[in-house]
Amino acid sequence: MNYISTRGQTPPLPFSEVLLMGLAPDGGLMLPESYPRISETTLYEWRELSYPDLAFEIMRLFATDIPADDLRAIIRRTYTAEAFGSEAVTPVRTLSDGLKIQALSNGPTLAFKDIAMQFLGNAFEYVLAKAGRQLNIIGATSGDTGSAAEYALRGKRGVNVFMLSPEGKMSAFQRAQMFSLQDENIHNIAVKGMFDDCQDIVKAVQNDAEFKARHHIGTVNSINFGRVLAQIVYYFAGYFQATTSNEQKVSFCVPSGNFGNVCAGHIARQMGLPVHRLMVATNENNVLDQFFGSGEYRPRGGAETYVTSSPSMDISKASNFERFVFDLLDRDGDKVRGLWQQVDSGAGFDLGGMMDKIRDQYGFVSGKSTHADRLAVIREVYEAEGELIDPHTADGVKVARQLSEAGETVICLETALAAKFAGTIHEAVGAVAVPRPAKLEGLEDLPQRVQVVPNDAAAVKEIIRAALARTADR
Ligand SMILES: *Cc1c(COP(=O)(O)O)cnc(C)c1O
Repeated sequence: MNYISTRGQTPPLPFSEVLLMGLAPDGGLMLPESYPRISETTLYEWRELSYPDLAFEIMRLFATDIPADDLRAIIRRTYTAEAFGSEAVTPVRTLSDGLKIQALSNGPTLAFKDIAMQFLGNAFEYVLAKAGRQLNIIGATSGDTGSAAEYALRGKRGVNVFMLSPEGKMSAFQRAQMFSLQDENIHNIAVKGMFDDCQDIVKAVQNDAEFKARHHIGTVNSINFGRVLAQIVYYFAGYFQATTSNEQKVSFCVPSGNFGNVCAGHIARQMGLPVHRLMVATNENNVLDQFFGSGEYRPRGGAETYVTSSPSMDISKASNFERFVFDLLDRDGDKVRGLWQQVDSGAGFDLGGMMDKIRDQYGFVSGKSTHADRLAVIREVYEAEGELIDPHTADGVKVARQLSEAGETVICLETALAAKFAGTIHEAVGAVAVPRPAKLEGLEDLPQRVQVVPNDAAAVKEIIRAALARTADR
Protein backbone atom coordinates (compact mmCIF):
# COMPACT_ATOMS: atom_id res chain seq x y z
CA MET A 1 0.00 0.00 0.00
CA ASN A 2 1.29 3.44 -0.95
CA TYR A 3 0.50 6.86 0.48
CA ILE A 4 -0.60 10.02 -1.30
CA SER A 5 -0.95 13.66 -0.26
CA THR A 6 -4.24 15.49 0.32
CA ARG A 7 -2.97 18.16 -2.08
CA GLY A 8 -2.28 15.71 -4.87
CA GLN A 9 1.23 16.80 -5.82
CA THR A 10 3.49 14.34 -4.00
CA PRO A 11 4.52 11.07 -5.68
CA PRO A 12 3.21 7.95 -3.83
CA LEU A 13 5.42 6.79 -0.93
CA PRO A 14 5.61 3.60 1.18
CA PHE A 15 4.59 3.49 4.87
CA SER A 16 8.08 3.43 6.37
CA GLU A 17 8.92 6.73 4.66
CA VAL A 18 5.63 8.35 5.58
CA LEU A 19 6.29 7.32 9.18
CA LEU A 20 9.25 9.70 9.44
CA MET A 21 7.53 12.57 7.63
CA GLY A 22 5.76 15.70 8.81
CA LEU A 23 3.89 17.62 6.13
CA ALA A 24 4.10 16.35 2.56
CA PRO A 25 6.40 18.43 0.30
CA ASP A 26 3.29 19.96 -1.35
CA GLY A 27 2.04 21.13 2.06
CA GLY A 28 -0.63 18.41 2.35
CA LEU A 29 -1.05 15.42 4.67
CA MET A 30 -0.29 11.83 3.74
CA LEU A 31 -3.06 9.21 3.52
CA PRO A 32 -3.28 5.66 2.14
CA GLU A 33 -4.25 5.48 -1.54
CA SER A 34 -7.42 3.71 -0.42
CA TYR A 35 -8.77 2.35 2.87
CA PRO A 36 -8.78 -1.44 3.27
CA ARG A 37 -12.35 -2.83 3.60
CA ILE A 38 -13.07 -5.34 6.36
CA SER A 39 -15.65 -8.06 5.66
CA GLU A 40 -18.41 -9.08 8.12
CA THR A 41 -16.69 -12.42 8.62
CA THR A 42 -13.39 -10.80 9.50
CA LEU A 43 -15.15 -8.50 11.95
CA TYR A 44 -16.55 -11.55 13.75
CA GLU A 45 -13.12 -13.17 13.90
CA TRP A 46 -11.50 -10.00 15.23
CA ARG A 47 -13.92 -9.91 18.20
CA GLU A 48 -11.93 -12.66 19.87
CA LEU A 49 -8.48 -11.08 19.53
CA SER A 50 -6.33 -9.56 22.28
CA TYR A 51 -5.49 -5.86 21.90
CA PRO A 52 -1.99 -6.46 20.46
CA ASP A 53 -3.27 -9.14 18.06
CA LEU A 54 -6.08 -6.85 16.89
CA ALA A 55 -3.55 -4.02 16.46
CA PHE A 56 -1.39 -6.30 14.34
CA GLU A 57 -4.28 -7.38 12.08
CA ILE A 58 -5.26 -3.75 11.47
CA MET A 59 -1.82 -2.20 11.16
CA ARG A 60 -0.43 -4.79 8.80
CA LEU A 61 -3.04 -3.70 6.23
CA PHE A 62 -1.41 -0.26 6.24
CA ALA A 63 2.26 -0.93 7.05
CA THR A 64 2.74 -3.31 4.14
CA ASP A 65 6.44 -2.60 3.67
CA ILE A 66 7.36 -3.74 7.19
CA PRO A 67 7.84 -7.55 7.38
CA ALA A 68 4.92 -9.09 9.34
CA ASP A 69 7.09 -10.67 12.04
CA ASP A 70 8.89 -7.38 12.68
CA LEU A 71 5.62 -5.46 12.87
CA ARG A 72 4.16 -8.02 15.28
CA ALA A 73 7.24 -7.69 17.50
CA ILE A 74 7.01 -3.88 17.53
CA ILE A 75 3.32 -4.06 18.48
CA ARG A 76 3.83 -6.70 21.20
CA ARG A 77 6.58 -4.56 22.74
CA THR A 78 4.25 -1.55 22.72
CA TYR A 79 0.83 -2.68 23.96
CA THR A 80 1.66 -4.40 27.24
CA ALA A 81 -0.40 -4.54 30.43
CA GLU A 82 2.67 -3.10 32.15
CA ALA A 83 2.68 0.09 30.03
CA PHE A 84 -1.11 0.54 29.81
CA GLY A 85 -2.34 -0.79 33.15
CA SER A 86 -4.43 -3.73 31.87
CA GLU A 87 -4.54 -6.51 29.27
CA ALA A 88 -7.47 -4.71 27.60
CA VAL A 89 -5.21 -1.62 27.07
CA THR A 90 -8.31 0.55 26.37
CA PRO A 91 -11.00 -0.89 28.72
CA VAL A 92 -14.66 0.18 28.40
CA ARG A 93 -16.86 0.81 31.46
CA THR A 94 -20.51 1.88 31.77
CA LEU A 95 -21.88 4.80 33.82
CA SER A 96 -25.19 4.42 35.63
CA ASP A 97 -27.06 6.29 32.87
CA GLY A 98 -25.81 3.79 30.27
CA LEU A 99 -23.13 5.99 28.69
CA LYS A 100 -19.95 4.04 28.05
CA ILE A 101 -16.46 5.37 28.71
CA GLN A 102 -13.41 3.94 26.93
CA ALA A 103 -10.20 4.64 28.86
CA LEU A 104 -7.39 5.71 26.52
CA SER A 105 -5.51 7.36 29.35
CA ASN A 106 -3.76 4.64 31.31
CA GLY A 107 -0.39 4.92 29.55
CA PRO A 108 2.83 6.36 31.03
CA THR A 109 1.75 10.04 30.86
CA LEU A 110 -1.96 9.49 31.60
CA ALA A 111 -3.23 10.91 28.27
CA PHE A 112 -4.49 9.25 25.09
CA LYS A 113 -1.47 10.47 23.11
CA ASP A 114 0.54 7.66 24.71
CA ILE A 115 -1.33 5.06 22.65
CA ALA A 116 0.05 6.42 19.40
CA MET A 117 3.36 7.78 20.71
CA GLN A 118 4.45 4.53 22.36
CA PHE A 119 3.98 2.78 19.02
CA LEU A 120 5.75 5.57 17.16
CA GLY A 121 8.77 5.35 19.50
CA ASN A 122 9.26 1.64 18.81
CA ALA A 123 8.49 2.01 15.10
CA PHE A 124 10.98 4.90 14.75
CA GLU A 125 13.73 2.90 16.42
CA TYR A 126 13.09 -0.03 14.06
CA VAL A 127 12.92 2.00 10.83
CA LEU A 128 15.97 4.13 11.71
CA ALA A 129 18.08 1.09 12.59
CA LYS A 130 17.15 -0.57 9.30
CA ALA A 131 18.04 2.52 7.28
CA GLY A 132 21.17 3.23 9.37
CA ARG A 133 19.79 6.69 10.08
CA GLN A 134 19.59 9.04 13.02
CA LEU A 135 16.76 11.42 13.91
CA ASN A 136 16.89 14.37 16.28
CA ILE A 137 13.45 15.51 17.29
CA ILE A 138 12.86 19.12 18.24
CA GLY A 139 9.50 20.17 19.65
CA ALA A 140 7.71 22.76 21.75
CA THR A 141 5.22 21.80 24.43
CA SER A 142 2.95 23.43 26.94
CA GLY A 143 2.68 20.08 28.73
CA ASP A 144 0.98 16.98 27.31
CA THR A 145 2.48 16.36 23.89
CA GLY A 146 6.06 16.85 25.01
CA SER A 147 5.82 14.39 27.84
CA ALA A 148 4.13 11.74 25.67
CA ALA A 149 6.94 12.13 23.10
CA GLU A 150 9.67 11.93 25.74
CA TYR A 151 8.22 8.81 27.39
CA ALA A 152 7.89 7.19 23.97
CA LEU A 153 11.42 7.98 22.79
CA ARG A 154 13.44 7.73 26.02
CA GLY A 155 16.36 5.36 25.65
CA LYS A 156 15.62 4.62 21.99
CA ARG A 157 18.67 4.13 19.75
CA GLY A 158 19.13 6.55 16.88
CA VAL A 159 16.85 9.20 18.37
CA ASN A 160 17.46 12.32 20.50
CA VAL A 161 14.68 14.57 21.78
CA PHE A 162 15.08 18.32 22.37
CA MET A 163 11.89 19.54 24.01
CA LEU A 164 11.33 23.24 24.59
CA SER A 165 8.88 24.46 27.23
CA PRO A 166 8.13 27.91 28.68
CA GLU A 167 10.04 28.29 31.95
CA GLY A 168 7.74 28.26 34.98
CA LYS A 169 4.52 27.98 32.94
CA MET A 170 3.79 24.27 33.28
CA SER A 171 2.21 22.68 36.36
CA ALA A 172 4.50 21.16 38.99
CA PHE A 173 3.21 17.73 37.94
CA GLN A 174 3.97 18.34 34.24
CA ARG A 175 7.45 19.69 35.04
CA ALA A 176 8.23 16.70 37.23
CA GLN A 177 6.93 14.30 34.60
CA MET A 178 9.30 15.61 31.93
CA PHE A 179 12.29 16.84 33.88
CA SER A 180 12.67 13.72 36.05
CA LEU A 181 13.64 11.62 33.01
CA GLN A 182 17.31 10.73 33.32
CA ASP A 183 17.78 9.18 29.87
CA GLU A 184 20.76 10.62 28.01
CA ASN A 185 18.82 11.06 24.76
CA ILE A 186 16.18 13.30 26.38
CA HIS A 187 17.04 17.01 26.56
CA ASN A 188 14.65 19.34 28.39
CA ILE A 189 15.11 23.00 27.51
CA ALA A 190 13.19 25.62 29.51
CA VAL A 191 12.95 28.88 27.57
CA LYS A 192 12.62 32.24 29.32
CA GLY A 193 9.41 33.11 27.48
CA MET A 194 5.95 31.86 26.58
CA PHE A 195 4.78 28.76 24.67
CA ASP A 196 4.55 30.80 21.45
CA ASP A 197 8.21 31.81 21.85
CA CYS A 198 9.15 28.13 22.09
CA GLN A 199 7.20 27.43 18.91
CA ASP A 200 8.92 30.32 17.14
CA ILE A 201 12.32 28.89 18.08
CA VAL A 202 11.33 25.46 16.75
CA LYS A 203 10.27 27.10 13.48
CA ALA A 204 13.51 29.06 13.28
CA VAL A 205 15.55 25.87 13.74
CA GLN A 206 13.40 24.05 11.15
CA ASN A 207 13.82 26.91 8.69
CA ASP A 208 17.62 26.79 8.92
CA ALA A 209 17.95 24.24 6.12
CA GLU A 210 21.69 23.81 6.57
CA PHE A 211 21.41 23.16 10.33
CA LYS A 212 18.38 20.91 9.81
CA ALA A 213 20.12 18.71 7.26
CA ARG A 214 23.45 18.55 9.07
CA HIS A 215 21.85 17.53 12.38
CA HIS A 216 19.03 15.30 11.00
CA ILE A 217 16.31 17.40 12.62
CA GLY A 218 12.71 16.11 12.59
CA THR A 219 9.44 16.48 14.52
CA VAL A 220 6.69 14.28 15.96
CA ASN A 221 3.53 16.30 15.45
CA SER A 222 -0.04 15.14 15.35
CA ILE A 223 -0.21 15.04 11.55
CA ASN A 224 2.07 11.99 11.43
CA PHE A 225 0.08 9.17 9.82
CA GLY A 226 1.68 6.57 12.10
CA ARG A 227 -0.10 8.23 15.01
CA VAL A 228 -3.46 8.18 13.26
CA LEU A 229 -2.96 4.52 12.35
CA ALA A 230 -2.29 3.45 15.95
CA GLN A 231 -5.48 5.23 17.00
CA ILE A 232 -7.71 3.34 14.53
CA VAL A 233 -7.22 0.19 16.61
CA TYR A 234 -9.05 1.35 19.73
CA TYR A 235 -12.23 2.17 17.82
CA PHE A 236 -12.43 -1.52 16.89
CA ALA A 237 -11.48 -2.57 20.43
CA GLY A 238 -14.13 -0.27 21.94
CA TYR A 239 -16.82 -1.44 19.54
CA PHE A 240 -16.17 -5.10 20.34
CA GLN A 241 -16.25 -4.49 24.09
CA ALA A 242 -19.49 -2.50 23.94
CA THR A 243 -21.44 -4.97 21.78
CA THR A 244 -22.21 -8.65 21.45
CA SER A 245 -22.95 -8.58 17.71
CA ASN A 246 -22.07 -6.47 14.70
CA GLU A 247 -25.65 -5.22 14.30
CA GLN A 248 -25.75 -2.90 17.29
CA LYS A 249 -25.95 0.86 16.84
CA VAL A 250 -22.81 2.30 18.40
CA SER A 251 -21.55 5.87 18.21
CA PHE A 252 -18.34 7.41 19.49
CA CYS A 253 -18.05 10.81 21.16
CA VAL A 254 -14.54 12.29 20.89
CA PRO A 255 -13.09 15.28 22.80
CA SER A 256 -11.38 17.04 19.90
CA GLY A 257 -8.67 19.62 19.21
CA ASN A 258 -6.44 18.85 16.24
CA PHE A 259 -8.96 16.30 14.87
CA GLY A 260 -6.35 13.50 15.05
CA ASN A 261 -8.34 11.25 17.36
CA VAL A 262 -11.69 11.44 15.56
CA CYS A 263 -9.93 11.24 12.16
CA ALA A 264 -8.88 7.72 13.19
CA GLY A 265 -12.56 7.00 13.98
CA HIS A 266 -13.52 8.22 10.52
CA ILE A 267 -11.00 5.84 8.93
CA ALA A 268 -12.23 2.91 11.09
CA ARG A 269 -15.76 3.65 9.85
CA GLN A 270 -14.57 3.82 6.22
CA MET A 271 -12.94 0.42 6.73
CA GLY A 272 -16.34 -1.03 7.54
CA LEU A 273 -16.57 -0.84 11.34
CA PRO A 274 -20.32 -0.33 11.85
CA VAL A 275 -20.08 3.02 13.67
CA HIS A 276 -23.42 4.84 13.62
CA ARG A 277 -22.24 8.40 14.32
CA LEU A 278 -19.01 10.22 15.16
CA MET A 279 -19.68 12.99 17.67
CA VAL A 280 -17.07 15.74 17.68
CA ALA A 281 -16.93 17.46 21.08
CA THR A 282 -15.20 20.83 21.34
CA ASN A 283 -14.67 23.27 24.20
CA GLU A 284 -15.08 27.05 23.90
CA ASN A 285 -12.68 26.88 20.92
CA ASN A 286 -15.51 25.61 18.73
CA VAL A 287 -14.24 25.99 15.16
CA LEU A 288 -14.99 22.32 14.46
CA ASP A 289 -18.46 22.50 16.04
CA GLN A 290 -19.20 25.40 13.72
CA PHE A 291 -18.10 23.38 10.71
CA PHE A 292 -20.13 20.29 11.57
CA GLY A 293 -23.14 22.47 12.33
CA SER A 294 -23.06 24.67 9.22
CA GLY A 295 -20.32 23.59 6.79
CA GLU A 296 -18.40 26.81 7.43
CA TYR A 297 -14.74 26.41 8.40
CA ARG A 298 -13.31 29.63 9.83
CA PRO A 299 -10.03 28.91 11.63
CA ARG A 300 -8.96 31.58 14.12
CA GLY A 301 -5.64 33.08 15.12
CA GLY A 302 -3.87 32.81 18.45
CA ALA A 303 -5.43 36.04 19.71
CA GLU A 304 -8.93 34.56 19.27
CA THR A 305 -8.06 31.22 20.88
CA TYR A 306 -9.32 31.02 24.46
CA VAL A 307 -7.28 29.55 27.30
CA THR A 308 -9.68 27.06 28.89
CA SER A 309 -9.81 24.41 31.60
CA SER A 310 -9.56 21.68 28.92
CA PRO A 311 -6.26 23.04 27.56
CA SER A 312 -5.37 20.19 25.19
CA MET A 313 -8.40 21.19 23.10
CA ASP A 314 -7.47 24.89 22.89
CA ILE A 315 -6.93 24.71 19.15
CA SER A 316 -8.44 26.88 16.42
CA LYS A 317 -6.72 25.36 13.37
CA ALA A 318 -7.33 21.61 13.39
CA SER A 319 -4.29 20.21 11.62
CA ASN A 320 -5.77 16.77 10.78
CA PHE A 321 -9.07 18.15 9.52
CA GLU A 322 -7.71 18.36 5.96
CA ARG A 323 -7.70 14.55 5.82
CA PHE A 324 -11.46 14.38 6.30
CA VAL A 325 -12.10 17.19 3.80
CA PHE A 326 -10.02 15.27 1.22
CA ASP A 327 -12.36 12.27 1.59
CA LEU A 328 -15.45 14.50 1.64
CA LEU A 329 -14.39 16.02 -1.70
CA ASP A 330 -13.96 12.52 -3.20
CA ARG A 331 -10.18 12.85 -2.87
CA ASP A 332 -9.79 15.78 -5.24
CA GLY A 333 -6.36 17.19 -4.31
CA ASP A 334 -6.80 20.27 -6.52
CA LYS A 335 -9.97 21.24 -4.70
CA VAL A 336 -8.31 20.71 -1.29
CA ARG A 337 -5.37 22.86 -2.35
CA GLY A 338 -7.77 25.61 -3.37
CA LEU A 339 -9.63 25.48 -0.05
CA TRP A 340 -6.43 25.67 1.99
CA GLN A 341 -5.28 28.66 -0.03
CA GLN A 342 -8.45 30.30 1.26
CA VAL A 343 -7.60 29.13 4.80
CA ASP A 344 -4.08 30.55 4.54
CA SER A 345 -5.42 33.87 3.32
CA GLY A 346 -7.56 34.01 6.47
CA ALA A 347 -10.91 33.60 4.70
CA GLY A 348 -11.72 29.97 5.45
CA PHE A 349 -14.33 28.18 3.36
CA ASP A 350 -17.98 27.16 3.26
CA LEU A 351 -19.12 23.61 2.40
CA GLY A 352 -22.68 24.24 3.59
CA GLY A 353 -24.00 22.57 0.45
CA MET A 354 -22.52 19.26 1.63
CA MET A 355 -24.20 18.99 5.04
CA ASP A 356 -26.28 15.96 4.03
CA LYS A 357 -23.19 14.10 2.90
CA ILE A 358 -21.30 15.08 6.07
CA ARG A 359 -24.13 13.86 8.32
CA ASP A 360 -25.69 10.93 6.43
CA GLN A 361 -22.78 9.42 4.55
CA TYR A 362 -19.98 10.21 7.03
CA GLY A 363 -22.03 10.20 10.26
CA PHE A 364 -20.50 13.37 11.73
CA VAL A 365 -22.34 15.47 14.31
CA SER A 366 -20.93 17.85 16.91
CA GLY A 367 -21.45 19.82 20.09
CA LYS A 368 -19.71 22.32 22.34
CA SER A 369 -18.98 22.33 26.07
CA THR A 370 -18.00 25.29 28.27
CA HIS A 371 -16.19 25.73 31.58
CA ALA A 372 -19.52 25.67 33.45
CA ASP A 373 -20.63 22.50 31.60
CA ARG A 374 -17.33 20.81 32.36
CA LEU A 375 -17.51 21.55 36.08
CA ALA A 376 -21.16 20.43 36.24
CA VAL A 377 -20.38 17.12 34.50
CA ILE A 378 -17.37 16.40 36.73
CA ARG A 379 -19.59 17.04 39.76
CA GLU A 380 -22.51 14.92 38.44
CA VAL A 381 -20.29 11.97 37.58
CA TYR A 382 -18.57 12.23 40.96
CA GLU A 383 -21.89 12.26 42.80
CA ALA A 384 -23.46 9.46 40.74
CA GLU A 385 -20.46 7.14 40.40
CA GLY A 386 -17.97 8.22 43.04
CA GLU A 387 -15.31 8.58 40.36
CA LEU A 388 -13.43 11.57 38.97
CA ILE A 389 -13.15 12.24 35.24
CA ASP A 390 -10.79 14.75 33.67
CA PRO A 391 -12.00 18.04 32.12
CA HIS A 392 -11.51 16.91 28.47
CA THR A 393 -13.47 13.72 29.05
CA ALA A 394 -16.13 15.84 30.77
CA ASP A 395 -16.51 17.87 27.55
CA GLY A 396 -17.10 14.57 25.74
CA VAL A 397 -19.66 13.38 28.29
CA LYS A 398 -21.54 16.69 28.07
CA VAL A 399 -21.79 16.47 24.26
CA ALA A 400 -22.58 12.72 24.27
CA ARG A 401 -25.51 13.27 26.63
CA GLN A 402 -26.74 16.19 24.54
CA LEU A 403 -26.64 14.33 21.21
CA SER A 404 -27.49 10.71 22.03
CA GLU A 405 -30.79 9.29 20.83
CA ALA A 406 -32.97 6.45 22.07
CA GLY A 407 -31.53 3.04 21.18
CA GLU A 408 -28.06 4.37 20.47
CA THR A 409 -25.09 3.15 22.50
CA VAL A 410 -22.53 5.95 22.89
CA ILE A 411 -18.89 5.37 23.80
CA CYS A 412 -17.20 8.52 25.07
CA LEU A 413 -13.42 8.40 24.75
CA GLU A 414 -11.59 9.21 27.99
CA THR A 415 -8.57 11.19 26.83
CA ALA A 416 -6.80 11.93 30.14
CA LEU A 417 -6.95 11.08 33.85
CA ALA A 418 -8.20 13.52 36.46
CA ALA A 419 -4.83 13.32 38.25
CA LYS A 420 -3.32 15.60 35.59
CA PHE A 421 -5.83 18.40 36.23
CA ALA A 422 -6.29 18.51 39.99
CA GLY A 423 -6.94 22.29 39.97
CA THR A 424 -10.10 22.04 37.86
CA ILE A 425 -11.24 18.95 39.75
CA HIS A 426 -11.04 20.89 43.04
CA GLU A 427 -12.97 23.75 41.48
CA ALA A 428 -15.73 21.29 40.54
CA VAL A 429 -16.00 19.11 43.63
CA GLY A 430 -14.01 20.82 46.39
CA ALA A 431 -10.90 19.61 48.17
CA VAL A 432 -11.24 15.86 47.56
CA ALA A 433 -8.17 13.68 47.08
CA VAL A 434 -7.52 13.14 43.34
CA PRO A 435 -6.21 9.59 42.99
CA ARG A 436 -2.96 9.05 41.14
CA PRO A 437 -1.57 5.75 39.78
CA ALA A 438 0.89 4.20 42.23
CA LYS A 439 3.78 4.47 39.76
CA LEU A 440 3.49 8.28 39.92
CA GLU A 441 3.43 8.70 43.71
CA GLY A 442 6.22 11.03 44.81
CA LEU A 443 6.94 12.16 41.22
CA GLU A 444 7.55 15.78 42.26
CA ASP A 445 10.30 14.69 44.69
CA LEU A 446 12.54 13.08 42.05
CA PRO A 447 15.68 14.90 40.88
CA GLN A 448 15.11 16.98 37.71
CA ARG A 449 17.21 17.59 34.59
CA VAL A 450 16.60 20.77 32.61
CA GLN A 451 18.65 23.50 30.94
CA VAL A 452 17.31 27.04 31.15
CA VAL A 453 18.03 29.25 28.11
CA PRO A 454 17.21 32.80 27.02
CA ASN A 455 14.44 33.28 24.44
CA ASP A 456 16.88 32.92 21.55
CA ALA A 457 17.10 30.36 18.73
CA ALA A 458 20.90 30.63 18.57
CA ALA A 459 21.19 29.48 22.21
CA VAL A 460 18.99 26.46 21.50
CA LYS A 461 20.97 25.54 18.39
CA GLU A 462 24.14 25.68 20.47
CA ILE A 463 22.67 23.21 22.99
CA ILE A 464 21.70 20.84 20.18
CA ARG A 465 25.13 21.12 18.53
CA ALA A 466 26.97 20.48 21.79
CA ALA A 467 24.75 17.55 22.81
CA LEU A 468 25.12 15.85 19.43
CA ALA A 469 28.90 16.35 19.51
CA ARG A 470 28.98 14.57 22.90
CA THR A 471 26.87 11.70 21.49
CA ALA A 472 29.24 11.36 18.54
CA ASP A 473 32.19 11.05 20.95
CA ARG A 474 30.62 8.15 22.83
C1 LIG B 1 -4.59 15.96 22.45
C2 LIG B 1 -5.76 15.83 23.36
C3 LIG B 1 -7.09 15.99 22.90
C4 LIG B 1 -7.41 16.36 21.46
O1 LIG B 1 -7.11 15.35 20.55
P1 LIG B 1 -6.96 15.68 18.99
O2 LIG B 1 -6.44 14.46 18.37
O3 LIG B 1 -6.00 16.83 18.90
O4 LIG B 1 -8.32 16.05 18.49
C5 LIG B 1 -8.12 15.81 23.79
N1 LIG B 1 -7.89 15.53 25.10
C6 LIG B 1 -6.63 15.37 25.58
C7 LIG B 1 -6.44 15.08 27.03
C8 LIG B 1 -5.52 15.51 24.74
O5 LIG B 1 -4.27 15.37 25.23
